[in-house]
Amino acid sequence: MDEKQLDLLSIKQVQMIPKLEKPPHLRAICSISCSMPARLFFGILKKNQVTMIMDTRRTRDYRGRGFFTSEDDFRYLCKCHDLVYKVVRELSPTREMRATFADEFKFVKKAKDRDPMAWTNFLRSYEDILRSERPLRQGRVHDLLYGEHRVIAIICACQHHEDCHRMLATTMMARYLPGVELKILYPEDKEPRRSYPRRYRLEDFPHFGIQADPPRR
Ligand SMILES: [Zn+2]
Repeated sequence: MDEKQLDLLSIKQVQMIPKLEKPPHLRAICSISCSMPARLFFGILKKNQVTMIMDTRRTRDYRGRGFFTSEDDFRYLCKCHDLVYKVVRELSPTREMRATFADEFKFVKKAKDRDPMAWTNFLRSYEDILRSERPLRQGRVHDLLYGEHRVIAIICACQHHEDCHRMLATTMMARYLPGVELKILYPEDKEPRRSYPRRYRLEDFPHFGIQADPPRR
């Protein structure tokens, strides 16, 4: 099969996915990092009329400073700001995925020893989770998306939307839920630096309408 046929196949597969019903209230999905001062984070959420947070981090308590390093502090601040806070494990990467990515890429010191496909493979495994769990069609995530909230924030600690699994989760929601837009929120609307070493997507993700983002030569 040549490349063109493969492309057509993916387009066909995408078209075969049955349409979903329009959520009664949901109008926007926000993608945002929680790694920032609380005042800034909650200020951005308020400005964008977010009323619920879905925390998609696998680990929510870790060493470090900031409200987001303690799940208890995070929950407390959400309560103070009248925000519903949900830990959504269904949208978290698995520990195995994170460990593999760390072993093959993140914690590899020499550039030549890093697996260039590591980030693409990580996203591919995450795509497999989304496609087998079907969170838009069933279960708790579905119920929350079809619930009373107009604007929901999907959060993780990664600074840049494209360096994070939340890119796939949020793009999927905006792409398949009719009437729902995706907003990528950054402090002062400024795109942050990409993480280092740079996480390149070496393949397209046609189910999400996401193109490869390889190094420029
Ligand atoms: Zn992330």
